[in-house]
Amino acid sequence: MADLLVVGSVALDSVQTPFGKVREVLGGAATYFSFAASFFTGVRLVGTVGEDFPPEHLQLLREHRVDLGGLQQRPGRTFRWTGEYGYDLNEAKTLDTQLNVFADFKPALSDTFRSTPFLFLANIDPELQLDVLQQMKSRPVLVALDTMNFWIQGKRSALLQVLGKVDVVTINDAEARQLAGEPNLVKAARAITGMGPTTVVVKRGEYGALMLSEGTFFVVPAYPLETVYDPTGAGDTFAGGFMGYLAAQGRFDRGVLRRALVYGSVMASFTVEDFSLERLKRLTRQEIAERYDAFQDLIRLEG
Ligand code: AMP
Repeated sequence: MADLLVVGSVALDSVQTPFGKVREVLGGAATYFSFAASFFTGVRLVGTVGEDFPPEHLQLLREHRVDLGGLQQRPGRTFRWTGEYGYDLNEAKTLDTQLNVFADFKPALSDTFRSTPFLFLANIDPELQLDVLQQMKSRPVLVALDTMNFWIQGKRSALLQVLGKVDVVTINDAEARQLAGEPNLVKAARAITGMGPTTVVVKRGEYGALMLSEGTFFVVPAYPLETVYDPTGAGDTFAGGFMGYLAAQGRFDRGVLRRALVYGSVMASFTVEDFSLERLKRLTRQEIAERYDAFQDLIRLEG
């Protein structure tokens, strides 16, 4: 039974960090998200790839129980993203974005997909996010959205429209400041809740994450890692852990939301240990449980 639907990019990424370089490897927001979330719950993916998309990538997602019934394979080339990180791994510099088959992507959800109770609108054109939300049969139990500078700048009014209809926003710190037009992150998070969502999760890379929910703040650190190779996908993997855990619980009171934030950090901490989805591919449930415990030790005050 799949509880969680994601719409977003499935990509071939070329990435350079101070620790190495990869070309045309598996990437995309929906890919990282669905792979991470599938450790917790059944996931349905809606997106598009071109005819050049390597079949082994599809196989990998299928083997991880991601339902690809909403992934259209169309004539043309797959979405490509090229990015680079300097010593400050918190900031990705986009060198090239080729939308390719994504440029005229029209998501068409099947009847079964339209009844999924949890929905994640990954970082794509806000008009498509709105379109998917409107295709749902009834209002999902929980709707979350991610976005980025590209859309905050280019499609602000459509973004504000969809923001008014979601429960949770996951966004990185620079983009939260940009969206709110406010340099102070606390004020920026408050301003974003004023745009509609009851919960804002601000992802802060190696500084962890900040959540504002129903007026109350909660923070988690990032796991202190000595080997960080590639931060690409950390944000989407974070969202996958967060939403996957929420969907598995089927509810989202304060305690569940806080634990979900820790699971988001746990999943992101693995992704950055290798390029593409390499670390996630080797990841076990046992390792997730151990790092969750390590997180609890990390933030415990007594004893
Ligand atoms: P993050 O989790 O924020 O590091 O997201 C990284 C992923 O976002 C990469 O795998 C890219 O393929 C994907 N991506 C980059 N730019 C865009 C865009 N404009 N639209 C959709 N996906 C993107």
